[in-house]
Amino acid sequence: MFPISIYTGGSVENGPMGATYNKPHSASYPAPDHLTFDDLKTKIFQLTGINKDKNTINVNARWNAGVAGSLCFLQMPICENTMWRMLVDKTLSGDSGWSVVELFVEAVPSSCCTHNDPGDKSQSNLECTQTTPELPTLKRSQRIRESRKNLQELSDEESFDVKQPSDELALYFGRLFDSLDDLRRTIREHHIRQNRNFVTVRSNGARYVVKCLDLRCGWKLYAASSKDRSYCQIKTIKGEHVCSNERDGEDNVNMTTEFISKLILDLVKIKGDACTPKEIQDFVHEVYPCTPSYTKAFRAKELAIAHLFGEWKESYAKLAPYLNAIQVVNPGTKVDWLSDATADPNVRIFRGVAWAFAPAIEGFKSCRPVISIDSTILSGKYGGRMLIAVAYD
Ligand SMILES: [Zn+2]
Repeated sequence: MFPISIYTGGSVENGPMGATYNKPHSASYPAPDHLTFDDLKTKIFQLTGINKDKNTINVNARWNAGVAGSLCFLQMPICENTMWRMLVDKTLSGDSGWSVVELFVEAVPSSCCTHNDPGDKSQSNLECTQTTPELPTLKRSQRIRESRKNLQELSDEESFDVKQPSDELALYFGRLFDSLDDLRRTIREHHIRQNRNFVTVRSNGARYVVKCLDLRCGWKLYAASSKDRSYCQIKTIKGEHVCSNERDGEDNVNMTTEFISKLILDLVKIKGDACTPKEIQDFVHEVYPCTPSYTKAFRAKELAIAHLFGEWKESYAKLAPYLNAIQVVNPGTKVDWLSDATADPNVRIFRGVAWAFAPAIEGFKSCRPVISIDSTILSGKYGGRMLIAVAYD
């Protein structure tokens, strides 16, 4: 038997040692040694009281990815039995420096479950095949539609079936919005489209007041949220913009890096890190009458990459659990880490990692005694090189 601690009802935070839960554990369970993932899920439903008929659950393990005995916890999604057994075996072996099986459990209403089907091998965590599609040639109107769709999708946690006005960016007395975020987004895009600037006067959840950035212009908008915060409404619009908007091609203070990052998602998805700030500036200017600064475009690209592929830091943090998983499913695979010690015994600085898959080690015995080495420069935030060794038979 081995103990399992289950955490649910709160959220995961990043503490000094990585992923940590912000609520005490909900249940503990002495599990039989050969517990399967299906049996585990059944037990979780029983112990936590999560309604099995109305919810599915996402199970994440708290996994120690620290090297050389240090503690650095990551969340590792557990979707199927092989991964679950690997987690149990590695944790209980004590190799990872942490021998407690801790699970972060999230209940997801069945109607909006997005968890991958465990049987779908194409979605496996260990298989990631990417192809580079052709860059589509989109007309200006198509780009506006596609970009606006991204802005909407990334900002909404749920979709609402509401009647949209013919001009979805129009601001008028009495207009209802699904949320304060929806109102903010509309005001921002409305002003960017007009190439005017506003400034927020008050924003406290219940009241939202903005006015024109140009003090000579009297435009001002008041909005309020309903008591239960289920919707938001424009209560007053004072005056009309009389400020100048003849700044075609200049930057707009309301066009934030976050806004641009969502606008350029499709572009970055296709071109990746090779997408230049100049291309982003031109792309934005095709959709709106303003052009972000070079620095803003650069930061927006970094943010878009993070939206699409995760943060650089998080990606590097996945190396250790990824290679651990490879060693489990490919026994005989060798992994060597190179890292420097720091003043904190729990923190080491990553220098490099080398690995050889078990079949390659076996196959090398039959190869000629010549090794070719090739390298490619890593152009991401941390730089470095990826080397590959090739032998011939
Ligand atoms: Zn104005």
